[in-house]
Amino acid sequence: MNVILLGPPGAGKGTQAETIMGTYHIPQISTGDIIRAAIKNQTPKGMEFKNYSEAGSLVPDALVDGLVEDRLAEPDCANGFLLDGFPRTVVQAQWLDQMLKARGRAMDHVVLIEVDDAIIVERIVGRGVDPITGKIYHLKFDPPPTDDIKNRLVFRKDDTTEVLTLRLREYHQKTAPLIPYYERAGLLRRIDGQGSIDEVKQRVLGALGRS
Ligand code: AMP
Repeated sequence: MNVILLGPPGAGKGTQAETIMGTYHIPQISTGDIIRAAIKNQTPKGMEFKNYSEAGSLVPDALVDGLVEDRLAEPDCANGFLLDGFPRTVVQAQWLDQMLKARGRAMDHVVLIEVDDAIIVERIVGRGVDPITGKIYHLKFDPPPTDDIKNRLVFRKDDTTEVLTLRLREYHQKTAPLIPYYERAGLLRRIDGQGSIDEVKQRVLGALGRS
């Protein structure tokens, strides 16, 4: 099964991706994670990504498309994949359609997780990832169970109120046009992303045909 997770920053895409991966045994491909790893490892591409990403802007389409193409060619994607954070523009979506078509593949579902902007700000500021387990926590809404975990949490540089404002603007201007794009293709499944993680999880599985 080939799935795209669509939604604003902080909609819970990363969290819900874990459920989909576990249920359908498909890998999560997060362009944000790939970009952050390249920046951390100071690769030549990482140096290019850094200025865009840390300022809350989208990286140019041509730079991201190549990353996705390489990743989808890996053997673990043979039976399906979950794209998280890609596509982010209509140009990326058109590129993806063509690239998949050339390989005899196509998307099955696009899950849109909808959350109001006001709630996003609350959710994003204060979230951190445990570098050992990869689990995402939130200091207020999903606090780490031990002080050890709390002390080692890593916070994203772009998860500040200022940068988030820019990321939301990018989302509404450049990514939201994907909603009618995938609606027309008959692939869009809308999910209310507000409520507990478990409630949203049930909605996501329901939309994909399992609950
Ligand atoms: P994310 O972790 O998905 O919120 O992505 C973090 C940052 O990486 C974004 O703010 C962009 O700068 C960059 N990025 C991730 N995915 C894409 C994409 N598909 N197109 C352009 N930039 C992206």
